[in-house]
Amino acid sequence: MPARRTDPAELVERAAKGEPRAVARLISLVENDAPQLRAVMAALAGRGGRARVVGLTGAPGVGKSTTTSALVAGLRARGRRVGVLAVDPSSPFTGGALLGDRVRMQDHATDPGVFIRSMASRGRLGGLSWAAPHALRVLDAAGCEVILVETVGVGQAEVEIAGHADTTLVLAAPGMGDSVQAAKAGVLEIADILVVNKADREGAQATVRDLRTMVGLAPSEPGGWKPPVVAVSAARAEGVDELLRQLDQHERWLEESGELRRRRRARARAEVEAIALEALRARIGSVRDHRLLDELAERVAGGGTDPYAAADELVAAVAGDVPAPLSR
Ligand code: GDP
Repeated sequence: MPARRTDPAELVERAAKGEPRAVARLISLVENDAPQLRAVMAALAGRGGRARVVGLTGAPGVGKSTTTSALVAGLRARGRRVGVLAVDPSSPFTGGALLGDRVRMQDHATDPGVFIRSMASRGRLGGLSWAAPHALRVLDAAGCEVILVETVGVGQAEVEIAGHADTTLVLAAPGMGDSVQAAKAGVLEIADILVVNKADREGAQATVRDLRTMVGLAPSEPGGWKPPVVAVSAARAEGVDELLRQLDQHERWLEESGELRRRRRARARAEVEAIALEALRARIGSVRDHRLLDELAERVAGGGTDPYAAADELVAAVAGDVPAPLSR
């Protein structure tokens, strides 16, 4: 078997030319938290910034996957290069299995203008908070003009994923009381555009009206963005043009209001913070067997100090450039 080429700079170079295998390999490095990751990120720095990131969220069954696929078709018809990142923050399994379930994506599997990847957090704390932005950097550098981030998991994770997007679509569907309920609860706050999917079904207009009323009642600032409510039938590819038009409008507003820069800064901030916390955690893990921790534990147990003061001491010791003292 030939040696696998993993030189980060070369991989990035090949990915930037749009070579699908290099893109796939880079995302695998991200997903596996590979040792080369640091070099990959260094090689990627300054290469992106053009991709527009659109997150899709909503209850299971509401049509996220179908809508993603319909959007891919619409964007391809406009000649845009598209990336799709299906993220499952709640499940520890990875790649293939998950993607295999997202059958609708098969329609685009052979299109060289579309990169499709799925990613799971491997059940690791803070996992997706850096892994998803890293994967977005890869797709961005690979020339994707629009990246659709589809959440597969449910719950808090949906909201978290919105933190990675420039524009967040919250999906609801008629006859799915749950999805409208979910849209009404915290999820509504993250919606830039509300999509009522399955508009071919009875009750769709009522759902649209409900959501419009809700948006109308929400407080808004002058010059702020009021989330439009768009009816779509993703399965029939109806309403997709209007959805794309609203996406363009939101993009314009993001740029003109300065919100785009603010969101991207917030995203980078969360990414840096997650990496720093991971590094700190790793260092604390490495002193777990060391005498400093033993000694602090002894002092806390003996009432000589309190746990917060002891933790401060530990953090100061591991966070400094100087390795933690092994004896005192
Ligand atoms: P997800 O779990 O949110 O990704 O939802 P899916 O995209 O897998 O769709 C769930 C189900 O709803 C599937 O059986 C789809 O065929 C169906 N569905 C999706 N979009 C539409 C639509 O526009 N109209 C109708 N009637 N069914 C749809």
